[in-house]
Amino acid sequence: MTTLPAGDHPVHEVHAIRFAHHAPRRRVENFLGGDAHDGPMPFDYFVFVIKGPAGAVIVDTGFNAEVARKRGREFLRCPSDGLRLLGIDPQTVADVVLTHLHYDHSGNQDLFPKARFHLQAAEMAYATGPCMCHGMLRGGYDPHDIAETVRKLFEGRVVYHQGEGVVAPGITLHRVGGHTDGQQVVRVMTRKGWLVLASDATHFFENFERNIPFPWVYHVGATLEGFRRLRELAAAEALVIPGHDPQIMTRFPPSTAEAKGIVARLD
Ligand SMILES: [Zn+2]
Repeated sequence: MTTLPAGDHPVHEVHAIRFAHHAPRRRVENFLGGDAHDGPMPFDYFVFVIKGPAGAVIVDTGFNAEVARKRGREFLRCPSDGLRLLGIDPQTVADVVLTHLHYDHSGNQDLFPKARFHLQAAEMAYATGPCMCHGMLRGGYDPHDIAETVRKLFEGRVVYHQGEGVVAPGITLHRVGGHTDGQQVVRVMTRKGWLVLASDATHFFENFERNIPFPWVYHVGATLEGFRRLRELAAAEALVIPGHDPQIMTRFPPSTAEAKGIVARLD
């Protein structure tokens, strides 16, 4: 029996699957305006999983080995290996949230043949609009993923949200923009209260904690406003989960003994 906290929202488990790594990254590259204390500050790549009464909802789909090779990222495992450690068959997943369409969040769509894909309408407009005439703004996207998303739209498998949205009771979507125009965050009711999967609304804990955006940014003001919104949505600052911080694997315990170093339990 699921416990229902105030507000009658069902309680969910939230997990992070670490599937790739980028070691040669320095602090100066992770803060707009640089950083006085330079040193290594690597990136991890995650696919997030929400487990609850409505089944498993996947947040972002990652990328594959071929894309990792092309972009010089260290590929650790297919995200589906992490899903299997959680007892989830990707073939049966009904709902996938794409927080935005950057290559590291929207590849591997073919792993989920039965899923509907939840996306902000503003993200598709941005990723196919005039801003993509600029190399600097389109660099984070892979045209293959955009085309796959358009294909799903025409198969009736894209659910567009405009601002706020609901995936299932206790799982809501919130457009914050900033990093990309249609960047959205996911708010989930857990046993600790509202947890927010911020994705690239804050790449590291430190971007959000110090109110300094990551330099790959479409709109600085919206990013800063997004930090404020994250604080408003989460029950506590400790329940705001960034998109790329390796500390996710050290701040939180493994989901199971077998999943140590691969899947962390966030709630
Ligand atoms: Zn990202």
